[in-house]
Amino acid sequence: MAKEEIKFQAESKELLDLMINSIYSNKEVFLRELISNASDAIDKRRFEALNSDGKIPLIEKPEIWIIPNKDEKSLTIKDDGIGMDKEELINNIGTIARSGSKEFVQKLKEAKDNENIDIIGQFGVGFYSAFMVAKKIVIETKSTHSSQGYRFESDGSETYSIEEISKEDIGTSITLYLKDDDEEEKYDSFLDFYTISYLVEKYSNYVRYPIKMNQIERVNKKDKDGKDIENEYEEKVETKQLNSMIPLWKKNKKDVKDEELNEFYKNNFHDYLDPLYSLFLNVEGMVSYQGLIFIPSHLRNEVYNRDEAGLNLYAKNVFIMDKCKDLLPHYLYFLEGVVDSSDLNLNISREMLQENKNIIKIRNNIENKLISSLKDLKENDNEKFKKIYDLFGVNLKYGIYESYGSKNDLLKDVIVFKSLNHNDDYIDLKTYVDEMKENQKNIYFACASSIDEIKLLPEIERFKKDGIDVLFCDKTVDEFTLRTLKEYDKHEFKNVSEFNEEDLSEEEKNKLEELNANHKKELDELKEALKEKVSEVKFSTKLVDSPVALISKEGLSLNMEKILNNIEGNENKINTEKVLEINPDHEIFKKISSLNSEEEIKDYATLLYNEALILGGLDIVDKEEFFKALNKILVK
Ligand code: ADP
Repeated sequence: MAKEEIKFQAESKELLDLMINSIYSNKEVFLRELISNASDAIDKRRFEALNSDGKIPLIEKPEIWIIPNKDEKSLTIKDDGIGMDKEELINNIGTIARSGSKEFVQKLKEAKDNENIDIIGQFGVGFYSAFMVAKKIVIETKSTHSSQGYRFESDGSETYSIEEISKEDIGTSITLYLKDDDEEEKYDSFLDFYTISYLVEKYSNYVRYPIKMNQIERVNKKDKDGKDIENEYEEKVETKQLNSMIPLWKKNKKDVKDEELNEFYKNNFHDYLDPLYSLFLNVEGMVSYQGLIFIPSHLRNEVYNRDEAGLNLYAKNVFIMDKCKDLLPHYLYFLEGVVDSSDLNLNISREMLQENKNIIKIRNNIENKLISSLKDLKENDNEKFKKIYDLFGVNLKYGIYESYGSKNDLLKDVIVFKSLNHNDDYIDLKTYVDEMKENQKNIYFACASSIDEIKLLPEIERFKKDGIDVLFCDKTVDEFTLRTLKEYDKHEFKNVSEFNEEDLSEEEKNKLEELNANHKKELDELKEALKEKVSEVKFSTKLVDSPVALISKEGLSLNMEKILNNIEGNENKINTEKVLEINPDHEIFKKISSLNSEEEIKDYATLLYNEALILGGLDIVDKEEFFKALNKILVK
C-alpha cells in the first residue's frame, strides 16, 4: 500500500486548530491524556484476551514506556495495548467521535469569546491535546486483530497520511516532534527526566500499569584503578518506574502502615506534620467511590481560605484536579484527601462539577461519614476527639450556623462545650440534658471572650449556688450556633445574660415585686442618673456576690451586640436595650439607700454601671466620667 493522504473530518480539524493555536499555559496535560489512552488500550487488550477462551494469549507484563530523544527533539509514548488497524486509525484518530470532544469544542469556542481559556485543563481533550506541544505526530501501531502495522503521520494540516509498515509487536507508539521553544514555553523541558517523572507522579501516579523511562546519566569513565579519566565520559542507563500504581485509597485500611499513610499525607498535601486522623472510604451504591480523608494536626493557613481548600479528584485512577472544593461543604474545608470515582467522566470540567449530581452525592456522603466517625470518636476515643475538637470544633459549630438550621440534626450531637459544672472537660448537649435539675426547663449558656471572663459574669452566680449547669460560650460563633439550634430535646437555649422572667418561682416573683415597690424611690433615682445608658433599673435574684449586672432585654444579647459591632466596616452600630440589675442583699445597695444628694447618687450609679460593663466583658465607654466619679468617692 502506498502512502495515503486522508482529510481530517471537519470537526477534528476545528479541534486540531484550537489545540495548535492554544495559548493555554497548562500544556503539560497532554502527557496525562496520552498515558491514559495507553492504559485504556492495555485494558482493552487484556479484556479481549480474557474473553477469547484462550485463543489470544494474555500479555504477561504490559508496560508503558516514555522515550525522549534529545537529538531529534521527540518524545515517544509506547504501550503494549490493543493497537489500531487502518480503519481504526481513521475512525478514532482522524475523526472525533466522542460527544465529550464535541462539547469541548463548543465550550472552547464560547470561552474564546470571553477570553476564558481555563477549561482546557479540566476537560480530557484526548489525543489532540498533543498538538499543543508537537508540530508533528507519528503513530506506529499494530492491532491484535491485524497482521499489518500502520504508520499515521500528521503535522496538523488539512490531511494526514497512513502507510503500511512492518511492525513486530502489537501495540502503539506515539511520537511527538516537539514545537520549537518560544517565549511562553520551553518545549524542550518535556524531554527532561525529572520533568517527566514529576508530571507522571502528578497526573498518572495511580495508572494500573508500570510507566517506565530510562534515566541516562553522563558519568566519567574510570581507569582500571577506579579513578576518573579526565574528559572521557560514558552513558549510564538506569530504568526507572515512574508511577506507584496502587493507590493507597484502594488498599484495605488494615494493609496500610501508619508510616505509609503519614508519608502519603505529607507528600500529597505539603504538610510537615503527621495527620491527626484518617478515614478510608469505600462506597458502593448509587455512586461508587473510594476516598481517603485526613484531618491535619494543626491549623494550616488555608483552613479558612475557601479557594485553597478541597479534595483531590480522580476518575478511574486518572487525576482530574486538585483542590476540588465541590467535594466538601464549606465548614469542612480544613480536610485534606482524595476521592476516586468510577462513576465520573474524565471529561468533566470545573464548571460542570458544581451541578454534577454524582459530585453532590459524594460530597453529602463524605460529610455524613466524617460526622458519624467524629461521633464515634467522641464515644470511643475521647482523647483524640478532644484534640480534633480543640482545632476544628469551631468549624463544626459554624456548620450549624451557616446551614441555617438544615444541618441541626446532623451536627447537634457532635458539638461539645465546657461548662460551669464541667470546667475542665467537654460535655455534649445530651449529657447536659441528662444532668438537668428537676423542673429545669431551659439549657443555659453564658458568653464572653474567654472562659475566665465567663466565670466573672455576675449572672451565673445564682446558677452556681443552685448547681444548675451553664454552657460556656467563649467562641464568637457559639451563641450564633445555639440560636440556630434553638432547642435540644425540646429544651430551649437561654443566654444567662438575658432578662428571663419565666425562670423565677412564684416566691421569687413576689419577693421582687415587694422589693421594687418598697425601694421605688432609689430605683427611680438610679434610673434617672443612668437614663441615657439603660432603659430600666430593677432588682435581681440571680446575683449572689456581685452588686450589679448588665442584662439585655430579649432579642439580641450583649455578647452578640459586641461581636456584630466589632465586625470591620460595620457602620451601623447596634445598641440593644439594657437593664441594670441590682443585688438587693448587697452592702452597696444599703449604702445607696442612705444617700441623700442627687449628685452622690449619680456618682454611685456611674460606678456601678461601669462595674457591670467590665464584668459583662464590655468596654468602659466614657472613661472620663467613670474616673471623676471614682475619685470623688475615694476622697470622701
Ligand atoms: P478518548 O481516549 O477519550 O476516546 P482520544 O482522542 O484520546 O479520546 O482517543 C480517541 C480514540 O483513539 C480512543 O478512544 C482509542 O480508540 C484510540 N486510541 C488513542 N490512543 C490509543 C492507543 N495508545 N492505543 C490504541 N488506541 C488508541
